[in-house]
Amino acid sequence: MPIYEYKCSACGNGFEYLHFAGDDTPPRCPDCDSPQVERQLSCFAKSGGQGGGASLGALAGGGGGHSCGSGGFS
Ligand SMILES: [Zn+2]
Repeated sequence: MPIYEYKCSACGNGFEYLHFAGDDTPPRCPDCDSPQVERQLSCFAKSGGQGGGASLGALAGGGGGHSCGSGGFS
């Protein structure tokens, strides 16, 4: 059950939504109940093998503007 980050296009509210199995419908904004939400790229999916310090080291090595892209893009 992945957790996705969404951002409401109507009010700009950011929130997380946990998708249950088979549930692929985007949620509504919990703040203004707008269905116009955008899925954000989440960092949580990558938090598997490396610790927090490793990502900091990748940033120091010149990873560019991606705060959570530690080796994902080449
Ligand atoms: Zn909203």
